[in-house]
Amino acid sequence: MIAENITQVETRIARACEKAGRDRSSVTLIAVSKTKPLALLQEAYDCGCRDFGENRVQELTEKYEALPKDIRWHMIGHLQRNKVKYLIGKVFLIHSVDSLRLAQEISRESVKKQVTTSILIEVNAAGEQSKFGLTSDAEVLRMVEEIAALPGIAVKGLMTVAPYVEHAEENRQYFHALKQLSVDIMHKNIDNVSMDILSMGMTGDYEVAVSEGAGYVRVGTGIFGERDYVYSVAEK
Ligand SMILES: *Cc1c(COP(=O)(O)O)cnc(C)c1O
Repeated sequence: MIAENITQVETRIARACEKAGRDRSSVTLIAVSKTKPLALLQEAYDCGCRDFGENRVQELTEKYEALPKDIRWHMIGHLQRNKVKYLIGKVFLIHSVDSLRLAQEISRESVKKQVTTSILIEVNAAGEQSKFGLTSDAEVLRMVEEIAALPGIAVKGLMTVAPYVEHAEENRQYFHALKQLSVDIMHKNIDNVSMDILSMGMTGDYEVAVSEGAGYVRVGTGIFGERDYVYSVAEK
């Protein structure tokens, strides 16, 4: 089932790229595997997936230990500062940085471990109360400038979780605005900051996101089916 789902998602991404005049290689599919047991991640791995997204630190690190080392792990969920130390050195990209204090902690732990950690700034594009992320362009720019000055951390772009909508087209405006914001920031040529990555688009709207310039799409349900409520160590 997972193989078929991945084939279908891949086909739709390829078609969206073609329509938008983009190279297929400019979009990376992240298999969002939160709550899913190792066997299903292994299945996706065997189908060629090398990018996996998780939203809890303990789950990510357990899966990191158990699965092949060429997997790129993406932290896509809200991150608490006291958990940062478990993640550094294992995570490929942290998508969900939304405060300077969090960035400072990532910087501190990265310096300690002598690595550079790549991050994205999370933007609450629709200004939803229930979501994390920065809500104004000015706030995002200020945060990028402040983080740029920290050692051991590199700002690579922006991420957003768009609203849950019935019609994916309703989210085009938010994806478009995020792209625009990333271009505006890129033009400021801030040292240590690239705006190469836009992480946007989920199962319901990734094709629209691709047409608006997404570099990473984060697909969970579309690959693994509906979420299980708990991931427990016993399931391994
Ligand atoms: C769970 C999650 C996803 C995947 O959602 P689906 O709708 O199942 O594709 C993507 N991004 C984030 C931040 C998530 O938490």
